[in-house]
Amino acid sequence: MELKLYDTLTKEKRAFAPLDPANVRMYVCGPTVYDFAHIGNARPVIVFDVLFRLLRHLYGEAHVTYVRNITDVDDKINDRAARDYPGLPLNEAIRKVTEQTGNQFHADVAALGCLPPTIEPRATEHIAEMRAIIERLIANGNAYVEQDHVLFSVATDPRYGNLARRSLDEMLAGARVDVAPYKRAPMDFVLWKPSKPGEPSWASPGGIKAEGRPGWHIECSAMSWKHLGERFDIHGGGIDLVFPHHENELAQSCCAFHTDRMANVWMHNGFLQVEGEKMSKSLGNFVTIHELLADWPGEVLRLNMLRTHYRSPIDWTLKGLEESAKTLDDWYAVARDLPGERVAGSVIEALTDDLNTPQMIAALHGLRNLAGDGDELLRDEFAASLRMLGFLADTAAGWTARKQQASGIDAGQVEALVADRSAARARKDFAESDRIRDQLAAMGIAIKDGKGADGKPVTTWEVAR
Ligand SMILES: [Zn+2]
Repeated sequence: MELKLYDTLTKEKRAFAPLDPANVRMYVCGPTVYDFAHIGNARPVIVFDVLFRLLRHLYGEAHVTYVRNITDVDDKINDRAARDYPGLPLNEAIRKVTEQTGNQFHADVAALGCLPPTIEPRATEHIAEMRAIIERLIANGNAYVEQDHVLFSVATDPRYGNLARRSLDEMLAGARVDVAPYKRAPMDFVLWKPSKPGEPSWASPGGIKAEGRPGWHIECSAMSWKHLGERFDIHGGGIDLVFPHHENELAQSCCAFHTDRMANVWMHNGFLQVEGEKMSKSLGNFVTIHELLADWPGEVLRLNMLRTHYRSPIDWTLKGLEESAKTLDDWYAVARDLPGERVAGSVIEALTDDLNTPQMIAALHGLRNLAGDGDELLRDEFAASLRMLGFLADTAAGWTARKQQASGIDAGQVEALVADRSAARARKDFAESDRIRDQLAAMGIAIKDGKGADGKPVTTWEVAR
């Protein structure tokens, strides 16, 4: 099956041809570790995890390298460290903040069913590569030193603006540009800047005597170069990163390495809003992954995210989460505890069409209906497909336990009551079965009767909200 992906740079969906099929290389911008990740941050992590899984399926697990960085040097980290640990030296406080936040991020995305990337580089471990790129840019005439800063001269790169599809005038009007005395032109951006006393600092490039620290954009050019080379296959991230972050990465890398492309395909996921509104701390609708995981199993968040195509904006709603939970309950009742060996062709076909996850979910519904009639082969394909996509990670008991943990309800007791009710129905004692149903309803549990994989009656339950 031919994989087709949409490229933000050329604005077209085209057949994907890796530079080296024995090593398909993908870079995705990772988190800046200073606070809990919000549900908007989860979108690229889940979307590119699905792409990573698809690439592994198509090219073989050993033939895909997925790099997702951690930005551990940033003003926001410094501010947070100074606020949370006023008694500690700043560098020590920064280490605490980045360690804790990094661990929390790993726990969050693992709960969302995401595989760890192949390599997870940290910005502070790639300062030498950043300096090397900056020296090249200075030597090539694309960067200049002014007042202990190094700046990229946008006027030296005629391609600048191609990714965002904006002219310099439009970019100037749309961006909050700092007018600074060390800039020759307002759009020029910082590659390196001096550190304030007590801040993290490293030996500077460009013959600057004072120590300094890198700008944000140069970090990704350096880490992708180190781990994937001057040119690689896929660069991903959220649509909010197109400008200026990715435009600047592209300019830096192409000018430093004299290439016409940094990545062959640029992929961006759309915005996420919550209950029809832009998520913001001031609106009070700012939701962290951590908070959501207290109420829902990670798979529910994952499925809910994939119901919308990655390039479309997504509206994150309680209703959507409830529907996703119901779907998974039904799917797991059919597929649970099956090993699953062959992934269904219809699922792969949907994904190879620019990660068409709504079509993939429709394919899974179709499979579930057929598998529900008890066909062993289809049940196996259904289970294999769910596993390949990061669902059904453990046994039925695991799913029940996660639902219980999320709802605060004693799932063991519920399961026992559901079993009693099924027994009552089997012996046609409908008064008893109704009584148990009412008892469950009083506990806040809704039940649904359906048909299992073997064609026998199956009852699923969920927490009514
Ligand atoms: Zn980046």
